[in-house]
Amino acid sequence: MKVSKKKEKKEKKEKRELTPIEKAHETMRKRRESGEVIKKLNPIERAKKKPTSLRLAINAKCYDCMCFQKKEITLCPSKDCPLYFVRPYQKSTEDDE
Ligand code: SF4
Repeated sequence: MKVSKKKEKKEKKEKRELTPIEKAHETMRKRRESGEVIKKLNPIERAKKKPTSLRLAINAKCYDCMCFQKKEITLCPSKDCPLYFVRPYQKSTEDDE
């Protein structure tokens, strides 16, 4: 009885549609398994690959501004900067303090 429930659960899990992030992970896994070497790009390289993306442009600008240190973007003290509130790598607990 217990085994059949587990089997049912597994079948249900296999049948359900993958979320977009799960599809992306699945695609990357297949690419890695096929032997493809996937190079991790820095924010500037990513922005150059997709020049119309505002998010990637902001990430690249902050990365450049803080001398290529992601940790420094988190600690950015320039509250007057127009990108301050949309900068990447912000602490999620910043509001809790
Ligand atoms: S928010 Fe901070 S890191 Fe980003 S561009 Fe402005 S000053 Fe630089």
